[in-house]
Amino acid sequence: MTDLMLAWEVGVPGPVHTHPLRAVRRPIPKPGPDELVVRVAACAVCRTDLHLAEGDLPPRREGVVPGHEVVGVVASIGPAVAEWSVGDRAGIAWLRHTCGVCVFCRRGAENLCPYSRYTGWDADGGYAQYAAVPADFAYRLPDGYPDAELAPLLCAGIIGWRALQRAQLPPGGRLGIYGFGASAHLTAQVAIAQGARVHVLTRSGAAQRLALDLGAVSAADADGEPPEPLDAAILYAPVGDLVPVALAALDRGGTLAIAGIYLSDIPSLNYQRHLFQERTLRSVTANTRQDGRDFLAHAAAHRLRVAVTPYPLDRADHALADLAADRVTGAAVLIPP
Ligand SMILES: [Zn+2]
Ligand SMILES: [Zn+2]
Repeated sequence: MTDLMLAWEVGVPGPVHTHPLRAVRRPIPKPGPDELVVRVAACAVCRTDLHLAEGDLPPRREGVVPGHEVVGVVASIGPAVAEWSVGDRAGIAWLRHTCGVCVFCRRGAENLCPYSRYTGWDADGGYAQYAAVPADFAYRLPDGYPDAELAPLLCAGIIGWRALQRAQLPPGGRLGIYGFGASAHLTAQVAIAQGARVHVLTRSGAAQRLALDLGAVSAADADGEPPEPLDAAILYAPVGDLVPVALAALDRGGTLAIAGIYLSDIPSLNYQRHLFQERTLRSVTANTRQDGRDFLAHAAAHRLRVAVTPYPLDRADHALADLAADRVTGAAVLIPP
């Protein structure tokens, strides 16, 4: 008889009030030759999970288990895995396969590999008691953090790290952050540690207070103007209407990076007001494994404050609903029994 575990799968994608996630019993996964299976200790809830459950991101696999910010302990390993042992702490993130031979992979841009595959989208993720991952895509984790605080580092943290690189913030520069959830509150701390002046623009009063507490220079509503022009900005809110707002807040030569995988439509831009004077608009697409290693090294050297709201795994649907309604400050994190 096979051992069963609790998992959540995406049933019929739709608005969160239609309960697109359903709780099921599944066999505990067995590792492929080059895979690890981890016993999940914590899995953070990412806005991408919500986009998947609600159908903004088309499902790539029927009944997929979401969750790509997974912290666990290696429970079993495939015969071809040499670098890991049972009992090691391991992290599973969004990127789980790249081809290694395409033009993007060869030039160090594996985040753009057309053959890439993702945890919790192409393959089952961490809204479960166990999850499998190719060993080459598992992360070693920094010491000094509890499991629940490590989990959000694995997407929120890594994507934020890449978004900050893409925003090309000059040393000591002025950074605007639009939207202040799980990823933004980590990015802000990285930028501040590197000497930036950070302005946070978000409508949530709780998020504004957290931003100031973490060392932001100002925090105010997202549709207002920051108190000084920005050298760089990162748009976290999945709101296309904020693109011209953030571009208009940039100083000459400034860059706006859009951090999310999903954005509502961008209204028409005015060339003079939004782009002229060499302002730059860029997207951020996933991350490379090197981004992940670089960010986790930063997190090991600079203890980040990670705001988390824990939920028992059997309340994953509530966690997703709370995220949809902006009722979570920091990151929701699922904790299996
Ligand atoms: Zn994510
Ligand atoms: Zn490739």
